[in-house]
Amino acid sequence: MASLKEEISRRRTFAIISHPDAGKTTLTEKFLLYGGAIAQAGEVKGKRARAATSDWMEIEKQRGISVTSSVMQFRHNGFCINILDTPGHQDFSEDTYRTLMAADSAVMVIDGAKGVEPQTRKLFKVCALRHIPIFTFVNKMDRETRDPLELCEEVERELGIATYPMNWPIGCGREFKGVYDREKKRILHFTDAGHAQKAAVTEAELDDPALPELIGEKLTDILRDDVELLGAGAEFDLEAVRCGKLSPVFFGSALTNFGVEPFLESFLRMTPPPLSRQSDEGLVDAFSPDFSAFVFKIQANMNKAHRDRLAFMRICSGKFEREAEYYHVQSGKKMRLSQPQAMMAAEREIVDEAYAGDIIGVFDPGIFSIGDTVTVPGKKFRYSGIPSFEPELFRSVSPKDTMKRKQFIKGVQQIAQEGAIQIFKFPGSGYEDIVVGVVGALQFDVFEYRMRSEYGVELRMEGLPYSHLIRIKGYEGDYRDMTLCTDSRVLQDLRDRYFIAYCGAWSLGFLTKHNPGLVLDDQLSV
Ligand code: GDP
Repeated sequence: MASLKEEISRRRTFAIISHPDAGKTTLTEKFLLYGGAIAQAGEVKGKRARAATSDWMEIEKQRGISVTSSVMQFRHNGFCINILDTPGHQDFSEDTYRTLMAADSAVMVIDGAKGVEPQTRKLFKVCALRHIPIFTFVNKMDRETRDPLELCEEVERELGIATYPMNWPIGCGREFKGVYDREKKRILHFTDAGHAQKAAVTEAELDDPALPELIGEKLTDILRDDVELLGAGAEFDLEAVRCGKLSPVFFGSALTNFGVEPFLESFLRMTPPPLSRQSDEGLVDAFSPDFSAFVFKIQANMNKAHRDRLAFMRICSGKFEREAEYYHVQSGKKMRLSQPQAMMAAEREIVDEAYAGDIIGVFDPGIFSIGDTVTVPGKKFRYSGIPSFEPELFRSVSPKDTMKRKQFIKGVQQIAQEGAIQIFKFPGSGYEDIVVGVVGALQFDVFEYRMRSEYGVELRMEGLPYSHLIRIKGYEGDYRDMTLCTDSRVLQDLRDRYFIAYCGAWSLGFLTKHNPGLVLDDQLSV
């Protein structure tokens, strides 16, 4: 049996981030394919369809989507890999950001024709907050793409991270012949093996006289020039990768499998095993035998009949055992974690043990909150909480039926405490008329659905124009007397902190100019 150290050392836990349609699902599928977790490409998407027949939330059934981000575990070459999926499009929500708190590194998928897109930028920023390693996979090289050097420059300019091309594409579109592996100094020439299988690879040296025969005269000349040019650039620095300052860049095509396997091998070598994590009592060593974890996501009401909730936790240290007794720091209670589940490629299954780096979902009788710490009895440290992220969409919300005021206040406060939405009131008034802030529109739907089905309250919701929220760090006067422009509003949260919701940079300028003594906090998280 493998020792604790061996088990933890083989864990690699990372998130895949991208703008919708860049190819995140396709790349994930190919990873699973190599890990033998699925037999055919197409199964990951298939999983979504199957979810419609299970007893997940009604809203998931209606929209055929997975409301919250999921995790997939598989093994490959001795590694035990946990991929955290970050949903895009209309499924985007605060959970997407929180999921990134559970990852040790991130793979950023970029469409080679489109470059850095808005959602890539948002997700990147959250990863950068934590200084985790970020690996770039430039996808869709089998199509016409932009110049590879220009793409690297765009990543550097737009995201503020240095790049180092690990391999270099040989042509693109129909002419995409393969990549040049800079470390091995070898050409990997791909031949199509059908989209569901691994690509066939022929290797060659750069100065091989037969190279023009393999990839053509023109591409040989371009490649030799490019490689020379690259050689003049900065040296590779693994330390800079590990602290999130340098992103290794790989080129490939997830759809045709070109470059996926070399990427996975190289990525797994560079990405770190579970690292020590900061708590209020100092760093906690991932390899310590004592189990500890923090909750990063709560999924409510997957089964309507039972009104149950599932708390997802990232194991930060030691080994989890199903029968052992654990300690929930925030409530001060000892407990067993019941129905612990791991998410495999196609389904969930009950697990008897899990290790630092793994994600488990456990039955939550309503005691866990986002950011909570679970340890072994006797240990009371807390992992630093999960920040709330700046909402971008706001609605004013009140109950349609004023007789339902009590249920309304109870519902919104509970749902907000769970972290499904952020709620605010106006200074000096109560919670019967609130502002709800979210990062993805889906959160409004989930909120509305849950208020109706769990609390019996129909909502009146009205869109508000704000797109930003900034925290007030200091202000000496009365918040109610502040001079505001028409498209801004002062709000107060459940923790009695004050914020300004506003539309654009112009409003901020106005506010600071007309309210002497106003100090704003311009952090990404609020
Ligand atoms: P996601 O939204 O980021 O998960 O993107 P998907 O993986 O669903 O891919 C979006 C679309 O791009 C799908 O039609 C894929 O078949 C296609 N696609 C993904 N990777 C590639 C690729 O390497 N080359 C080409 N030509 N198409 C791709």
